[in-house]
Amino acid sequence: MIPFISQLPEPEQATWIAALNQALPNESIVHISDMPAAKKLHCQLAIVANPDITQLTEFENLLWLHSVWAGVENLMISLADSAIEVVRLIDPILSQTMAEAVLAWSLYLHRDMPLYAKQQKSQHWQQHPHLLASDRRIGILGLGELGQASAEQLKKNGFKVMGWSRTAKTMANIATYSGADGLTEMLKQSDILVCLLPLTSATQGLINKTLLMQLPKSSRIINFARGGIINTPELLHMLELGHISHAVLDVFDHEPLSVNSELWQHPNITVLPHISAPTNLNSACEIVAKNITRFRITGEIPQSVDKINGY
Ligand code: NAP
Repeated sequence: MIPFISQLPEPEQATWIAALNQALPNESIVHISDMPAAKKLHCQLAIVANPDITQLTEFENLLWLHSVWAGVENLMISLADSAIEVVRLIDPILSQTMAEAVLAWSLYLHRDMPLYAKQQKSQHWQQHPHLLASDRRIGILGLGELGQASAEQLKKNGFKVMGWSRTAKTMANIATYSGADGLTEMLKQSDILVCLLPLTSATQGLINKTLLMQLPKSSRIINFARGGIINTPELLHMLELGHISHAVLDVFDHEPLSVNSELWQHPNITVLPHISAPTNLNSACEIVAKNITRFRITGEIPQSVDKINGY
């Protein structure tokens, strides 16, 4: 028996449990409340979607958790001192979904859609100079599963692409940077900055006034990673100064974004409801099934998240 532990609404949990049982016909995946105490005691693994961590205390022999989400920052904090390993979702379908979102919203900014939408509202006819995609420089913070797929997608569509990561990377026809100097170098050339970093103690509040000031004047930003990576008051200040001309934000410190948040009405902010790359139920279940089946046969826990680096 494997528990599915999550704070999702009950109907969504039921959908996950049904799909997981279909993908793992030799296992029995159950809602945590349907698991007898004796079974909990012997349970070695659980499938989770942002679980309430207190629910794990009854599982004294847990070895690992398989998250069906890619971002696991809350688990990294609550399980920092625990021996329980955390395996996050790495899914090529998810990477492609994110790459599609990065392309869509980069085009939105590249083709000045926010500006033309404003002009339409005031029946204002004005053509602005057009920049070729090959002259538009897009910098990506984070060159992991999602960052690399997004960089490739942007490159395929003719943009000049750069990427920054913690450790040095090489990618064909994509300028790559690492370290503090690398970040400065990339920022000064980024007309559009896309954030695809994990939220860790090193990236919390990274996108602040100091970082934004290093971007060219009137640059645009896209945050598809986590709200905590942006210092929102400092971003608002930079938008007010016009140093940043537009921000596309999909993720926020508190979700759902409060109806009272000033971000909703801001003329130079596009608010999205954490929709850039939703987990695909079918592909996620297939991946979870493959990992669990391998564990049952070999006893090997799939590659887990590095608790020291936090991602
Ligand atoms: P990943 O494969 O772990 O990649 C993370 C990248 O960030 C790596 O390139 C890593 O560098 C870099 N990085 C981490 N810490 C850094 C630091 N301190 N300085 C510089 N670079 C650093 O993660 P992923 O699968 O691409 O996902 C990224 C994030 O996207 C997730 O953590 C999640 O929060 C978010 N996400 C959002 C949505 C959505 O719908 N909005 C959906 C899925 C995921 P190295 O390559 O050197 O390790």
